[in-house]
Amino acid sequence: MDVLKIVPRGYCYGVVDAMTMAKRVAQDPSVPRPIFVLGQIVHNRHAVQELEQYGITTLDGASRLELLEEVPAGATVIFTAHGVSPAVKERAAARGLHLVDATCPDVTRTHNLIRSKISAGYAIIYIGTPGHPEPEGAMGEAPPDRVALVTRPEDVAHLTFSPDSPLAIVTQTTLSQWDTDLVIDAIRLRYPHAEVHNEICLATQNRQEAAVQSADAVDLVVVVGDRRSNNSNRLVEVVEKIGGKPSVRVENVADLNADWFKDVSRVAVTAGSSTPSRITREVVNWLSALSDVTLTQ
Ligand code: SF4
Repeated sequence: MDVLKIVPRGYCYGVVDAMTMAKRVAQDPSVPRPIFVLGQIVHNRHAVQELEQYGITTLDGASRLELLEEVPAGATVIFTAHGVSPAVKERAAARGLHLVDATCPDVTRTHNLIRSKISAGYAIIYIGTPGHPEPEGAMGEAPPDRVALVTRPEDVAHLTFSPDSPLAIVTQTTLSQWDTDLVIDAIRLRYPHAEVHNEICLATQNRQEAAVQSADAVDLVVVVGDRRSNNSNRLVEVVEKIGGKPSVRVENVADLNADWFKDVSRVAVTAGSSTPSRITREVVNWLSALSDVTLTQ
């Protein structure tokens, strides 16, 4: 079986920066202790475990605003690459916490865009994943009655904005570009005048395009990524829907099953932008050991 390592794959610059910043903070004796991350720094438990080794505790499971109340007075809190709403920043400052902002610059750009559109009198139709921290933070830039979340074309029927109100369509950074186009088309059918601001980041686009192209040449694409990683799940989707090939997502080498590869002569491996390269390397090594292989870069 040949193993094709898809390029680019794995950590994007936003994730590298967030991890580096968190580790640097942990190594700085002048930073107040204890140190917490508000939610998973990126959606990958291996990355979270890596930070634990630096003495950083991850708070997880609720909205960012609720999580903030778990941080003791005087402590340090790190905002993740997904960004946080202004309400979280204000509350953290009001509590006198020491703040470290590891928001990805691409997410910050989306926040700035929403703020400027709101100031100009627009309402926002945000295309994103319910329950994900990035929409929570970005949508928090708008008053609740001037922002609505849509995920699928069917959701457009539930929008209540009047037909003549100024509207801006803004997207989450880690969506499938093909699915997003369908949602945008559905919105524009109902609101033809809505401005489109596609905020899917370059790292997400490049990984999706490379995965779809490589799917052509293989029988199966393995995506290494956490189950909560939006961009990893989207990679599986685009390989199946656009590339027309089967795809499986595994969190790490322990998830692999030799039976999946019985009839596979060529497999491709990619990884979400929140997946540490060590985890992907272990998966590639496992596949390589499965049979006589030719490694292709
Ligand atoms: S996936 Fe895109 S938006 Fe998210 S951290 Fe990486 S570069 Fe930033």
